[in-house]
Amino acid sequence: MPRYDFRCRACGSTFKVSRPMSASDAPATCPEGHDDTVKLLSTVAMTGTAATPRQTGGCCGGGCCS
Ligand SMILES: [Zn+2]
Repeated sequence: MPRYDFRCRACGSTFKVSRPMSASDAPATCPEGHDDTVKLLSTVAMTGTAATPRQTGGCCGGGCCS
C-alpha cells in the first residue's frame, strides 16, 4: 500500500499516511487532530520543471555581464 506524505498547515508537522491509491486524495487528519492538511508530492516522482537545470553557457552565466 503506498504511503503519502502530508503536511499540517495548522501546526506545521509532517506525517505519513498509508492508504490505497484510490483514496490518495482523501483528506487526512494530522496526529495532533487538525484537518487542515495538504498532501505533499513525492520529490522522487517530480521531473521537468521541478528540477531546474543549471544555466550554463548563457551570457549572464558566463560573467560577461558583470
Ligand atoms: Zn496539526
